[in-house]
Amino acid sequence: MADRTLRETDAEVAKFIDEENRREFESMRLIASENYASAAVMEATGSCLTNKYSEGYAHKRYYEGQQIIDQVEELAISRLKKLFGRTAAAGGEDDLHVNVQPYSGGPANLAVYLAFCKPGDVIMGLGLPAGGHLTHGHSVSITGRFFKSVPYGVRRDTHRIDMDEVRKLAQEHRPKLLWAGTTAYPRTLDFKAFRAIADEVGAIFAADIAHIAGLVAAGEHPSPIGIADVVTSTTHKTFRGPRGGMILCKKVHAAAIDKAVFPGLQGGPHNHTTAGIAVAAKEALGESFPSYAKAIVENAKELAQALIDKGFAVTTGGTDNHLMLIDMTSKGIAGKPAAQALDRAHIVANYNAVPFDPRKPFDPSGIRIGTPSVTSRGMGKAEMRMLAGWIDRVVTSASNESVIAKVRGEVKELCSTFPAPGIRM
Ligand SMILES: *Cc1c(COP(=O)(O)O)cnc(C)c1O
Repeated sequence: MADRTLRETDAEVAKFIDEENRREFESMRLIASENYASAAVMEATGSCLTNKYSEGYAHKRYYEGQQIIDQVEELAISRLKKLFGRTAAAGGEDDLHVNVQPYSGGPANLAVYLAFCKPGDVIMGLGLPAGGHLTHGHSVSITGRFFKSVPYGVRRDTHRIDMDEVRKLAQEHRPKLLWAGTTAYPRTLDFKAFRAIADEVGAIFAADIAHIAGLVAAGEHPSPIGIADVVTSTTHKTFRGPRGGMILCKKVHAAAIDKAVFPGLQGGPHNHTTAGIAVAAKEALGESFPSYAKAIVENAKELAQALIDKGFAVTTGGTDNHLMLIDMTSKGIAGKPAAQALDRAHIVANYNAVPFDPRKPFDPSGIRIGTPSVTSRGMGKAEMRMLAGWIDRVVTSASNESVIAKVRGEVKELCSTFPAPGIRM
């Protein structure tokens, strides 16, 4: 029993994994938060490290048998310090503390609240409808229910974050914590401007780079390291590691952050994930990662321009990063039916609100498209032009299943010539 494979012991789950493998191979995956983790990352996360309990931190654990786990965690931390330390505006690796135990991006952010805030404190972040994340104070999130959330937005004319509004709101409401971080925002964040505002009002400044960590590591987006008090991230978006979270902070905050993660919020860390993060950090330190990150942004710019050329309304007129938001209503279709038709053509994106969207959140005007996954497959500008053509054909014939079937065939054919990291067909 013990040594039998998944296929032998559980044909149902094995079949689902086969089917998801195929789906991920045969489609253009454009969900901006997704990627293809490497086979090496997946091998580490699928290892015996999942068996071990190790509450605490290296050399200060509550269980014995940590000879190996301590080394795994220390290796992940030292690689991340090296990787992000070299992007620092000040202080470098020497003023960087890293915690790799948060279970994911959401829990990493909760640890920041626990470290710096009391229930009822004022906090500020970009509102969800403007491209912010749930955990930056949205009303349905614990962060909007346990804290007094004052969201800032984007300008009506440019759809860009309005730093004058951020400053005005901060001076009026005196937040304890100021977030800079986005989930559906195509432009560069000015971390120095946020720092200046946080200093004016005595707030802790937290940067959440969940989406852009890979771009930051490679110098494709300005780094908040050495500027923000604390930086949180997922490890599975542009960073291309396993599903996980991490916190990088200035050394003065090390004890508060570590205590908030454990024992404040979590029990034992997911050591198999920690190993996967170490592998991803090594990959990000490697020779080819900077050109990967550069290609993500180049592909996004190319795709945005190709869509604009076809008459699509790309918000802010383009992108600086890995994603774009498109208001589909000018093409006579809403975001949700557009995303559903695209999915039938094996072009997988998500429906998304656009700034000042007059439609409801569950049936918004836009779609969000990102290039991290297709870039991991080695696709480039020529493929982005083809993709724009397919998107246009599908959304202008969203109820014509024969057009969709034709595009699906072309998409599958293209995908068959671009191997996907970690996917075995
Ligand atoms: C994705 C994301 C998160 C949450 O990450 P999970 O791993 O899904 O919990 C947090 N912040 C931002 C800005 C994100 O985009």
